[in-house]
Parts: sequence; structure tokens; C-alpha cells
Amino acid sequence: MLAYIGLGTNLGDRELNLRRALARLEELGSVRASSFRETDPVGVIDQPRFLNAAAELETELPPRELLERLLEIERELGRERATERRWGPRVIDLDLLLSGQEAIDEPGLTVPHPRLADRRFVLEPLCELNEDLTLPDGTRIRDLLGSQLE
Ligand code: ADP
Ligand code: MG
Repeated sequence: MLAYIGLGTNLGDRELNLRRALARLEELGSVRASSFRETDPVGVIDQPRFLNAAAELETELPPRELLERLLEIERELGRERATERRWGPRVIDLDLLLSGQEAIDEPGLTVPHPRLADRRFVLEPLCELNEDLTLPDGTRIRDLLGSQLE
């Protein structure tokens, strides 16, 4: 199954943070990473710019377990949720964007990621990895990206 993961960081050595997270993802299955792009913060705008990427992961891990692994990697790389602001600066953010064509809405796990369609910094690297990628409802990622253009 192919899962897609969003990566973001705006504290410390951002490129190193992404590389370390990708190295840890490679322990879970085979990984294809998008390019890294610098983006302006959304929501809380008074914080450093982010470095974002997406990764495609071929894995047999069920989504719930995969999310657990992602949160574990965040902790290993030094993320402390207890002391951070919502949408504030973070060493690393790993989001489960898509998990095959599954749609999940459980406490603590929503897939596709609920804010995927609003975030250009997520849609662009997804499209770079797979320009035919669709959501479980059939919407094409590249159409979402197109409809964001002013
Ligand atoms: P965001 O990624 O939107 O900036 P957080 O990283 O603080 O926000 O995530 C908050 C919580 O969202 C996580 O603790 C996790 O349990 C939950 N969550 C639900 N669905 C997902 C998903 N698909 N990917 C990542 N986290 C998710
Ligand atoms: Mg997150």
C-alpha cells in the first residue's frame, strides 16, 4: 500500500531535520521523497519560515500504526507537544496525508488529512511525487492545486 506523509519544520537545522525524518521513514518501507520547499507559515504567521516536503512510503503498516510511528519519530527528533502552541514553531511535523484510498475518521486519526486540500505546501509536493494521485472520493490532487490558483 502507498501512504503519503507530509513533513514540515521551522526550528533548528531544517534541512537536517527533514533528512533525519526521511531516514527514519526508510526503516518503515521504501521511500520516495519530494524536493524540499520553503514556505510562509499559515495560521500563526509570526514565526520562522517552514521547510516542507512530502514522502511516498510503500508499507504494509495499517494507518493507525503508521501514525503511531510518525508521532514516535517526531518525539525522537525533539518535538515536545506539551510546550508548543497550536500551529506554532516545531522541529518536525509528520502528517499522514493519505493511506492508499482509505477514508478514516476516528478520534485521533483522520485520513485524508483534514487540511490537505487547503494547503498548497502539501498539494505541491504530493503532485510532484504522483501527478495522477487522487483522494478516496476521486478528486485529483492536481485539480485541487489548480483551483487554488487566483
Ligand atoms: P497539524 O499537523 O495540523 O499542524 P498537529 O501536528 O499538532 O497538527 O496534530 C495534532 C493531532 O492530530 C495529532 O496528535 C494526531 O493525533 C492528530 N491527527 C489526526 N489525524 C492525523 C493525520 N492524518 N496525520 C497526523 N496527525 C493526525
Ligand atoms: Mg501534525
